[in-house]
Amino acid sequence: MVKDNIVKIKERVALVCSKANRDLSDIKIVAVSKGRGIEDMKEAVACGLTDIGENRVQEAIAKYNELRTGEPANRRTIEWHMIGHLQANKVKDAVRIFDLIQSVDSLSLASEINKEAQKINKVQDILVEIKTSPEITKFGLKPEEAPEVIKEISGFNNLNIKGLMTIAPLVSNTDYARPYFRLLKELRAKINDSWHLSMGMTDDFEVAIEEGADIIRIGRGIFEG
Ligand SMILES: *Cc1c(COP(=O)(O)O)cnc(C)c1O
Repeated sequence: MVKDNIVKIKERVALVCSKANRDLSDIKIVAVSKGRGIEDMKEAVACGLTDIGENRVQEAIAKYNELRTGEPANRRTIEWHMIGHLQANKVKDAVRIFDLIQSVDSLSLASEINKEAQKINKVQDILVEIKTSPEITKFGLKPEEAPEVIKEISGFNNLNIKGLMTIAPLVSNTDYARPYFRLLKELRAKINDSWHLSMGMTDDFEVAIEEGADIIRIGRGIFEG
């Protein structure tokens, strides 16, 4: 089932790339496996989706440990993405396992991650989460405060900012999500045009790719149906 779903998702990604004149090889699909079982995750990895997204640290650690004991070929290639709100008391564990923390939503969290990364001599890759729709999502920097805060985050020696992330509101027509994605792209243009844009989920990834996403986060489209 997971395998068939992935084939379909990849076809849709390829189609929108060709329509939107985007390079297919530029798009990274993160398989969002929160709440899913380890067997389904193994199937996704076997299908070549080696980027795994989780939103809770404890759940991620359990899965991380389980997948690490599997085939060497599997564990070598997996990259772990933290995509949920990170509490200060979970930062230490998060820094230990995640390759990319996509949900850095405040200066104080960035500071905490920097501190823990320093302790283990790691430079932690992060994305800064932006609240592109004030009414819907709870977490993220406001677009108007983002440039200033990001400048401060850039000063942390053990953080490497790789880009921006956003969650668009749920809308009845995915075209309505477009302004939020566009806003993230415009913000990037003001700060660093080489940065990644993590935006787009099962229902809206096509519009996100049209608007410049190069990291999409797919859960239901891979693990359900
Ligand atoms: C759950 C989740 C996703 C995946 O959502 P689907 O609609 O299942 O594709 C993507 N990003 C974040 C931040 C999530 O929490």
